[in-house]
Amino acid sequence: MATIHYITQVQIGFGSLDTLNEGCRQLGLKHPLITTDPGIARTDILAQVTRHLDIPYEIFDQTPPNPNERAVRAAAKIYRDQQCDGVIAIGGGSSIDLGKAVTVCATHEGPLKHFAFIEGGATHITAAAAPLIAIPTTAGTGSEVGRGALIILDDGRKVALISPHVVPKLAICDPTLTLGLPKMLTAATGMDAVTHCMETFMSAAYNPPADGIALDGLQKAWANIELATQEPANREARLNMMCASMEGAMAFQKGLGCVHSLSHSLGGINPKLHHGTLNAIFLPAVIRFNAPCESMVGEKKLQRMARAMGLPAHGDIARAVEEINDRLGLPAKLSQLGVERSSFEHIIEGAFADHSHKTNPREATRDDYIRMLEESL
Ligand SMILES: [Zn+2]
Repeated sequence: MATIHYITQVQIGFGSLDTLNEGCRQLGLKHPLITTDPGIARTDILAQVTRHLDIPYEIFDQTPPNPNERAVRAAAKIYRDQQCDGVIAIGGGSSIDLGKAVTVCATHEGPLKHFAFIEGGATHITAAAAPLIAIPTTAGTGSEVGRGALIILDDGRKVALISPHVVPKLAICDPTLTLGLPKMLTAATGMDAVTHCMETFMSAAYNPPADGIALDGLQKAWANIELATQEPANREARLNMMCASMEGAMAFQKGLGCVHSLSHSLGGINPKLHHGTLNAIFLPAVIRFNAPCESMVGEKKLQRMARAMGLPAHGDIARAVEEINDRLGLPAKLSQLGVERSSFEHIIEGAFADHSHKTNPREATRDDYIRMLEESL
C-alpha cells in the first residue's frame, strides 16, 4: 500500500507572476511577510515580484545561504510583531525553506527542534501553520512544491521539518526570474534538480507516478542544463529547467538517498558549501554503490535512466555525470572545496542521522560511506 498525493497548486510558465495578487486573495492574505535573501533584495527581482502586490507587506531579507534557527526566529518575530497573516517566500531553496519554518514557528509554541522530523516533529506541526506562497528564483531545489525545509539548529545539526502543512499553498514558477541567474549558480542548482530526479527514482519505495515524473524531470534537466548555463537568456531552456526542478521535488516525496544524506551532513558542517555542487560531486559514487542492488537491477533502473538521458541502454551513467559536471565547470572532487579526510567521521555520523539515509535503495554501512567519500574526495 502506498499513500500518494500531488501536491499543491502550481502556476508555471512565463507570466505566471501575474497570478500573485489573485493567489493572495484566494488564500486570504492581507498583510504577508516576504522572506528573501540579501542577494535578491539587491537585484530588481524583489521589485519584479512586489509590483504585482496591491496589499501591504513586510520584508525579512536576511536569509543566510543555509538558513538557520536564528534567522527563523528573527523573521518569525517580524511576522508576530506586525501581525502578518501569511508568508511569501522569494528566492532559492534557502529563502523558501526559511519561509516554511516561519509558517510553523510563528504559529506554534516551542523551540524549532521540537518540529524536526528526526525528533518526531512531523506530529507537532498542525494545520495552524501559516499559508505560504513560494516563488522560486532558481531552478534546482524544487522547495516550492516540497513538504520539507532544511534548517541548521542552534546546536549545529542540519535537520528537516517535514509535514504536509509546510507545503506552499501556491507555487508560482515564473522562469522570467531565472533569466539573470549566473552561470555557476545555474549549473549547481540545475545539478540539484538532476540529483533529485535520479536519486528519488533509484529509491526503492513503491510510487510509480513519482517514478514517471522523476524520469520526465531527468529528461528535461539533462537536455537543458548545459543550454541554460551557456545561454542564460534561452527562455525554452529556462522553462524546462524550472519544470524539471519542480518535477524533481514532486517526485522526491518517495525519499532521496545517500547523495543527500552526505550533502546534508557536510552542508551542516560547513554551511558555505553549495548543496547542488555537493550533490553533483557525490552522485557518481552513489550511483555506483546503488547499481548492484536488487531493486535497481530488477526494475532495470539504470537502463530507464539512461533512456531518459539519451544514453545507450547500458551506458555508464556515473561516468556521464562526471563528464557533464566537467563540461558545466563544476568541481569534480571534494578536495577542491577544501574538504579533508579528517572530517569523514563527522560527515558519516551526520549522514546516518539524516532522513535520506533510510530511503537509499541499498543500506549504507560506515565502510560504504567511507568508500563513497574516498571516491568523491
Ligand atoms: Zn537537493
